[in-house]
Amino acid sequence: MPELPEVETVTRGLRLAILGRRILSVTLAKTDFIDDPVALEVHLPGRRIEAVERFGKFMFLRLSGVTEAGRTAENGDAMPAFLLVHLGMTGRLAPCRAEHPREKHTHISLLLDDGRELRYTDARRFGRVAYLTEVPLAEELTGFGADPLEVGSEEFTKRICGRRARIKALLLDQGVLRGVGNIYADESLWRAKIHPARLGAKVNREQVETLRRVLQEILRKAIALRGSSISDFLDAEGEPGEYQRHHRAYGREGKGCYRCKTPIRRAIVAGRSSYFCPKCQPSPRGFNALPLPRRALPQATVKRENLRKGARKKFETGEGAPHVYRNKSKNWTARP
Ligand SMILES: [Zn+2]
Repeated sequence: MPELPEVETVTRGLRLAILGRRILSVTLAKTDFIDDPVALEVHLPGRRIEAVERFGKFMFLRLSGVTEAGRTAENGDAMPAFLLVHLGMTGRLAPCRAEHPREKHTHISLLLDDGRELRYTDARRFGRVAYLTEVPLAEELTGFGADPLEVGSEEFTKRICGRRARIKALLLDQGVLRGVGNIYADESLWRAKIHPARLGAKVNREQVETLRRVLQEILRKAIALRGSSISDFLDAEGEPGEYQRHHRAYGREGKGCYRCKTPIRRAIVAGRSSYFCPKCQPSPRGFNALPLPRRALPQATVKRENLRKGARKKFETGEGAPHVYRNKSKNWTARP
């Protein structure tokens, strides 16, 4: 799922590509992820794209009001409005020449006044798009936590320390911080040497301050490298990001820790796969990681297990044993 650095990357790309363009018309395909599809068709044409902003993992286009006959203050058309976009898992928003054939899963196409189309594609449609005027947008954006890039030491400490929730859950909670997801939570916890399952209340102030510092460093570096391309994230120019090459914990189960060579382990924390070094990030008492997958085990163990499995299979199928019945095209027949 695109997190803060990926959404920031797309936002910056769109700012360069579509700022100042006017929307001429709207074409929709599947609409189950759009709040009110008709509102897009009725209210978007004629508006100019005045700004592209990021808010947590959300992105919104600020659109000018329209002054045409029939477009009034009552229906909101004379006033600025917003197109709120959440990319979900696989959403992508990028401009493209209008004559180019539309890619599969293109669900929104906004024709622009320079012969391009701003297209939203989303294979899984876990994203969300909504046309909103000023007040509803403000309501949508209330209840979110601090921006992790801007949060100060005191506020961050207040939001984490003393909380009886696991630190990973706190980092993922958009009401605590907006924009951090699974990848950057694991990466910053590894760097700060804090186990993801530790309770906020059990992390000391010094460690919390380290966490804030490394989280900001990681997010800034990830933005500079245009995000992490896990699965299929592409920026507004259709280029993958590069930060995945710098991952130290996320997705590295069984591989050696970059600091101490201990195999990275995985556990489910806050309902999500969490990667950590069991040596650098000591676990809270009684917390167990998931067993290492077979491909991550030393070869000798795998061989031993295969032998055992072979023996069990022989026993189950009765191979090598006389007078055992086995299923042959639904009829039970005795083996010769
Ligand atoms: Zn380690």
